[in-house]
Amino acid sequence: MSETHNDILFEIPHYTQYKIVVVGDAAVGKTSLIKRYTTNTFQKDYISTLGMQFSRYEETISGIMVELFLWDLAGQESFATLRERFYKGSSGAIIVFSLAPEEIETYRNIDKWLSHIKEACGRIPIILFGNKADLVDQNAIASSPDYVTSDVHVQKFAQDHNINEYLRTSALTGQGVQEGFQTLIRKLYHRATR
Ligand code: GDP
Ligand code: MG
Repeated sequence: MSETHNDILFEIPHYTQYKIVVVGDAAVGKTSLIKRYTTNTFQKDYISTLGMQFSRYEETISGIMVELFLWDLAGQESFATLRERFYKGSSGAIIVFSLAPEEIETYRNIDKWLSHIKEACGRIPIILFGNKADLVDQNAIASSPDYVTSDVHVQKFAQDHNINEYLRTSALTGQGVQEGFQTLIRKLYHRATR
């Protein structure tokens, strides 16, 4: 092979495809987070079918061309018969709960989502989003352990359950959204090429 040929090959950007499932209780903000992330970037298709929906789009992250399929559940979050089809072929997952104090049970239900993921996909990278951060006193949860969803508690929970990272997010303000999705995508890429 000539040197020139090698150079040309080297210039071709890496291309890769990932299916990412976004799970969590109803109304925690899954659809809003996907919309926030995808509409700030390139094209977007939102296809709704049988209680599931997915959004497909492409972007380049750190020189890697990535085609993403982001799936979430639409109002049938506990419909067991959909589960296999929904999770099939997932490279990574985002679990979302709500930081809003009146939605604290969405934090307690994370275990359920973790077991669904594990059952259907085995061990895949998982990122945890504490969404609706705009509705809480973030200084308080960042610095005081007095709340169930204080950073220190959620981070410990994440560590104990092999969750790769925890971020406070807001689909409303955009806080943490770009960073959260891209952390997962980079993790998937490095995992695939390791
Ligand atoms: P899903 O059922 O998990 O897909 O949740 P949705 O995306 O449909 O959001 C449920 C409700 O929460 C809607 O009224 C959203 O406008 C609201 N919501 C979603 N994300 C946020 C957020 O980050 N902050 C606030 N204040 N409201 C949010
Ligand atoms: Mg939804």
